[in-house]
Amino acid sequence: MDDVVIIGGSFAGLAAALQLGRARRKVTVLDTGLPRNRFAGHSHGLLGHDHKPPLDILAEARRQLTRYPTVNLVNARANSVSGGIDDFSVLTGNGESLGARRLILSYGITDQMPAVPGFAEGWGTSIVPCPYCDGFEVAGQHWGLVWSGLQSHNQVRLFHDWTDRLTVFADGHDIPPDIRADVARRNIPVVDGRITEIDRHGGHNPTLNLDTGPDVTVDILFAHPRNKPSAGLHESLGLATVDTPLGIALKADERRETSMPGIYAAGDLANPGMPSVTTASWQGAIAGISAQQSMLV
Ligand SMILES: Cc1cc2nc3c(=O)[nH]c(=O)nc-3n(C[C@H](O)[C@H](O)[C@H](O)COP(=O)(O)OP(=O)(O)OC[C@H]3O[C@@H](n4cnc5c(N)ncnc54)[C@H](O)[C@@H]3O)c2cc1C
Repeated sequence: MDDVVIIGGSFAGLAAALQLGRARRKVTVLDTGLPRNRFAGHSHGLLGHDHKPPLDILAEARRQLTRYPTVNLVNARANSVSGGIDDFSVLTGNGESLGARRLILSYGITDQMPAVPGFAEGWGTSIVPCPYCDGFEVAGQHWGLVWSGLQSHNQVRLFHDWTDRLTVFADGHDIPPDIRADVARRNIPVVDGRITEIDRHGGHNPTLNLDTGPDVTVDILFAHPRNKPSAGLHESLGLATVDTPLGIALKADERRETSMPGIYAAGDLANPGMPSVTTASWQGAIAGISAQQSMLV
């Protein structure tokens, strides 16, 4: 039996495995190799790893984990989970059944691409979600923002630190009059109508085709599609969740324990605040340490 099975071996899961391996705990990490930022050429904002391809950061982390003989990295999906604290059972896509005293869920979230031709193709290059991740490289240029709800108003205020050339695309949303007035006061144009297609020119400068009015080209487009957990294991376990503006997140306390004793959660799957590689790694480390300390005799 493992001390801990970690489901999802990206930034959060590997950070948990690192702490557990250093504490000489027996750990299996299950991973299917699809981190959320795999569409991006470079990852930004992680101290010591700024402007590196995200898959290179993860490959280096996996290489470093080979130092720890009690950590087993397995390329497999966790298909189902059952049991309770001190006696969990995880069934993998390889047909294996793993026993564990604790579980860490770090299987991330999946962005739901809207059915707009060109959107999925541009995701991570000409269409991005986060100014901290991708804003510096396009500072001062013409940005577009696809309105996704009231939280977009915060983005309008936030983006001002990077550019004063912003166009808002309502994309069928009814933007309340007071917010429209605030956006207008900032000299930011709002383009009404739905986005019907996004053309790219060599990966950048997306052109938005609208069902009303002429096409608009920007240098970079920010968008926040809805997302959902990348697996449904928390549902079968009945774990508590909280709503986020774009989906749900698992509820976890400050030690990253979920609503079920012995199950910890880390990373985008359980981060209703500001998901990033840094916060995922930090939460993963806390989850690993919390799981380890919960097993002290
Ligand atoms: C386009 C884009 C660009 C971004 N750029 C940046 C950036 O520059 N800087 C930054 O800090 N953040 C960036 N982010 C955010 C960053 O990608 C996430 O915050 C980070 O990946 C979260 O790490 P995680 O470990 O929680 O989840 P993920 O990295 O999404 O990893 C989850 C892992 O779980 C695996 N998995 C899923 N289901 C199962 C299962 N059933 N069994 C086993 N394994 C499973 C997946 O294959 C995946 O490897 C970006 C996001 C996007 C969408």
